[in-house]
Amino acid sequence: MQKDFRADLHCHTTCSDGSDSPFALLQIAKKASLSGLSITDHDTVDAYTPELFAEAAKLGIELLPGVEISSQLDDATVHVLGYGFDLHNDLFHQFLREILSARDERNRAILKKLAAKGMLITEEELKTFAPRRTVGRPHIAELLVKKGYVSSSRDAFQLYLKESASCYVPGFKQKPQEVIAVIHKAGGKAVLAHPHFFKKQNFVKKLLDMPFDGVECYYSLLAKEMEAPWVKIAGEKNLIATGGSDYHGVLKPQIPLGCSWVGRETFEALLSCAK
Ligand code: AMP
Ligand code: FE
Ligand code: FE
Ligand code: ZN
Repeated sequence: MQKDFRADLHCHTTCSDGSDSPFALLQIAKKASLSGLSITDHDTVDAYTPELFAEAAKLGIELLPGVEISSQLDDATVHVLGYGFDLHNDLFHQFLREILSARDERNRAILKKLAAKGMLITEEELKTFAPRRTVGRPHIAELLVKKGYVSSSRDAFQLYLKESASCYVPGFKQKPQEVIAVIHKAGGKAVLAHPHFFKKQNFVKKLLDMPFDGVECYYSLLAKEMEAPWVKIAGEKNLIATGGSDYHGVLKPQIPLGCSWVGRETFEALLSCAK
């Protein structure tokens, strides 16, 4: 039984930019025969209620506290995954609150840029459209589609919202080092998310010189040969090699939950500090 243990350590719910509720996600995890799961919503841990832990236990799924925190280094957004932290740590919650209020400010700035181009979305409209804890570019993209300003969410990113596009606003003030420190103070492990997103080797080197505990090697539908270099780096640097699907539900319909996963040993290494 043990040898069949598979845990998906990267997925999103309706607390951020996923389309399934945390409870629905547990059902999907059960159908995918996953034994472990970490929900890693952007900048929030709202999914982790006592009721969710109880439901997971009922379904025989081990739930590992997780989060994907946004940060900024040079001109790039860097996602830091946190695992196994204390869900009741005050400093951690205060840090997330600050990020969410910076997000509000950033969303306002994006809406202003869009308005200057004749695409009018009010803050109220965005709030009503996306009544979630973490609101960001994916929700603005969907609303642009709904209001007929663009024909697809992909177009919204390509034309206006991606880094380098005309309505992009950076907006995250915290550096990856600060995020790592807060995760550590809350007793958790910090992992560099999807490092293959970065094209500049020097940039990755700079990141990997930071006190990360792990690096996300097994990612979504990434080909095996693309994963191999990261597994090698993890081995050389004594980092935990993590993995997960980055499931978002209908937002990225081609990506099924459980398409990337880790085994029992990795799961236990991240779980050690939780509860
Ligand atoms: P935000 O945190 O508000 O900057 O939004 C980042 C999220 O937007 C990512 O986690 C993805 O889910 C999504 N995203 C980023 N870039 C793109 C893109 N080019 N196309 C579609 N979705 C994207
Ligand atoms: Fe996302
Ligand atoms: Fe990410
Ligand atoms: Zn993600």
